[in-house]
Amino acid sequence: MKLIFERDNGVKSNYLDKCEVSYKLDDKLCRGSDVKLPEVSEGELCRHYTELAGNAYGVNNGFYPLGSCTMKYNPKINEKIASLSGFTDIHPLQPKQTVCGATEVIELLSKNLCELTGMDKVSLQPAAGAHGEYLGLLLIKAYHRDNNDTKRNKIIIPDSAHGTNPASAAMAGFEIVNVPSTKDGLADVEKLKQYLGDDTAGLMLTNPNTLGLFDKNILEITDIVHKAGGLNYYDGANLNAIMGIARPGDMGFDVVHVNLHKTFSTPHGGGGPGSGPVGCKSFLAKYLPEGEQSIGRVKAFYGNFLVAIKALTYILSLGSDGLLDASQTAVLNANYLKSCLGDSFDIIGNGYCMHEFVMSLQQLKDKTGVSALSFAKALLDEGIHPPTMYFPLIVHEALMIEPTETESKQTLDWVIDVFMALHKRAMSGDDMKNAPQKTYISKVDEVSAARKPILKA
Ligand SMILES: *Cc1c(COP(=O)(O)O)cnc(C)c1O
Repeated sequence: MKLIFERDNGVKSNYLDKCEVSYKLDDKLCRGSDVKLPEVSEGELCRHYTELAGNAYGVNNGFYPLGSCTMKYNPKINEKIASLSGFTDIHPLQPKQTVCGATEVIELLSKNLCELTGMDKVSLQPAAGAHGEYLGLLLIKAYHRDNNDTKRNKIIIPDSAHGTNPASAAMAGFEIVNVPSTKDGLADVEKLKQYLGDDTAGLMLTNPNTLGLFDKNILEITDIVHKAGGLNYYDGANLNAIMGIARPGDMGFDVVHVNLHKTFSTPHGGGGPGSGPVGCKSFLAKYLPEGEQSIGRVKAFYGNFLVAIKALTYILSLGSDGLLDASQTAVLNANYLKSCLGDSFDIIGNGYCMHEFVMSLQQLKDKTGVSALSFAKALLDEGIHPPTMYFPLIVHEALMIEPTETESKQTLDWVIDVFMALHKRAMSGDDMKNAPQKTYISKVDEVSAARKPILKA
């Protein structure tokens, strides 16, 4: 594919309106010569982006079971509502009475998120899940500081946690204590008890956890953390299994973030900005960015407002029955795949899973040499985006599969056929080391790419 610079046909086009605002920069800040930007006609520009889009793979192209990331279909009505000029042509500094609709969106979404999570107050400022975690942890820190309990500097995190959890806790200035998982894949409550003490600031947990398992000891877990003087943080990046069924607030959690760009169907990855609202119980609300003892702003104005509109559109168009149905279908789809693949693949955890499940390809690798990596590359040739790989870290050769509720049984049956066929290929001696071959860029030499990177043309 040609670069846009190689498409340069010297045609000057004025795509942008002339800017009416001017500002004289200090001469020493200015360039000596013009920037060399490509000049192409509108038609050539369209071809460039259409070609780029054709070479990318997204949830609109096909099955995308990226566990934990929830690549569900993004309904087009969300985009339609978010592009209404009443939303796009306003400015956060406008007088409040001129933007009543926008403030209503913020209030209504916050109210719905409170209802779904069992929290009392929400801030829409954070721009991503990890950003929300950081804000949530600062709330916990402010709470202990206000109680003159400053020796509470440890956050306890299960070893199956998403990598952002320990990273956010470290950024917020905490030390991290890892709780191991039991062989059933749940947090080890006896170990947790040993770690709790007067230096415990809190616990960070996601339930269902990253193995797709619901921790049935959750009430005991949050209770012993509270009794030790700590607070409970719920990583709600992915509420796909529990909407309308269970609420973090009822499980004993004090703070939660949710990812609008996962559960609430707003695009992510290359497709759009994220949003990671944080909810908390009323005793922490004063520390929120908007509160009277605020920990401070974490983002300009009201966060990624257009993402909030898309999420609210999703919530209102589904309604409470629709959200419940989405969760039940997400869990059903995951269990259907899991049980159909369970005879051939080694699935982690007994019994039912929630919205996702994890398989280990360690046994397959030992027998055939086909690793999770090779298997995932072979899936690319079949037109399937690989599942999340090598995560959670506690499972060797892990593939983490989340089909989501927006896939039909027809698609799931096809996926099962593909997995079984690849399994058969592996067992018959094909090591799949050359896959993928049918993609835009076929098997790359990752070792040379890492050792001798070519960083410019
Ligand atoms: C995606 C995810 C996060 C982080 O969210 P980002 O928006 O990527 O920062 C945190 N925890 C879990 C369980 C996740 O799936």
